[in-house]
Amino acid sequence: MPKYVFGPVPSRRFGRSLGINNIPPKHCTYSCVYCQVGRTSFFEYHRRKFYDPDELVDEAVNIIIKNYNIIDYATFVPDGEPTLDINLGYEAEKIKNDTSVKEAIITNSSLICDNSVREDLKIFDAVSLKVDAVTYETWIKINRPHHRLKLDNILEEIIDFSKSYNGTLFTETMLVKDVNDNIEEIEKIASFLRKVKLNKAFISLPIRPPAEKWVKPSDEEKVLIAYNIFAKYLGKEHVELLISYESGDFYRVDDPISSLLSIVSVHPMRIDYVYKFLDENNIEHCILDKLIEEGIILNVKYGGYTFIVRKHPEIGRKKK
Ligand code: SF4
Repeated sequence: MPKYVFGPVPSRRFGRSLGINNIPPKHCTYSCVYCQVGRTSFFEYHRRKFYDPDELVDEAVNIIIKNYNIIDYATFVPDGEPTLDINLGYEAEKIKNDTSVKEAIITNSSLICDNSVREDLKIFDAVSLKVDAVTYETWIKINRPHHRLKLDNILEEIIDFSKSYNGTLFTETMLVKDVNDNIEEIEKIASFLRKVKLNKAFISLPIRPPAEKWVKPSDEEKVLIAYNIFAKYLGKEHVELLISYESGDFYRVDDPISSLLSIVSVHPMRIDYVYKFLDENNIEHCILDKLIEEGIILNVKYGGYTFIVRKHPEIGRKKK
């Protein structure tokens, strides 16, 4: 079973995206209320080594070379914040040199004030930056940041970075009901994004089981209002809604069950997609009961759907 690589999974931004998991669960600078990996167990702020970078690169390169025709992007989207990894630049550069695959990264932007992080991000063909809030109170409520982070500095650096970056720049704003979806905050976010040289601002909703049970996606009306406000500031061609579950096939690069476990480790999967995946690989659905019994996966209900999630013993989900 691959240790660092999962998928490819259908990604709403990056097509068939081979995930690269360069951070163990769950080390992050944030503990977002909607995080699909669960609450942050290890709040960190300083970049450091997590895994052996050559081991990670070797695994990724082998899998990419064997599956090149079914991968659109190799995406760093780990069980935490990918820029905490001090070897991120080395890994991204080496994988690109050895395979020529297009690379993307999904970051929460919190370490962008660090010059070495900005230099690493420039290696990627596409960068997605999180901007859930631009006012301090809302930022604290939704992202629950490490106490040493400063929102104003992060926002300023996002603008500067966007001007010096030559790849495809996305931003992502997750709308959580009654947390960051009031018109005033949305206007402020849109007005901030107007200063960012971006290709597209995505508005998304927490559609997978969140770290906190009380988290709900914004109502349709609020999403529409947000879309219109963003379009007013940025132009319709620069705004897109990411509010439905990914459609498309989950591919496998290993034996089917190992592949499934690698995917649900960072990417909770709706049960109907899990069934489809099992059917395509001629595996009986009762394998799920066995994996649940053995404590390897969990069955989580959220938003009217059942999801299969990998159980990480070090991560908790709040009960109420
Ligand atoms: S959503 Fe991303 S930034 Fe937020 S806590 Fe989870 S891993 Fe960290």
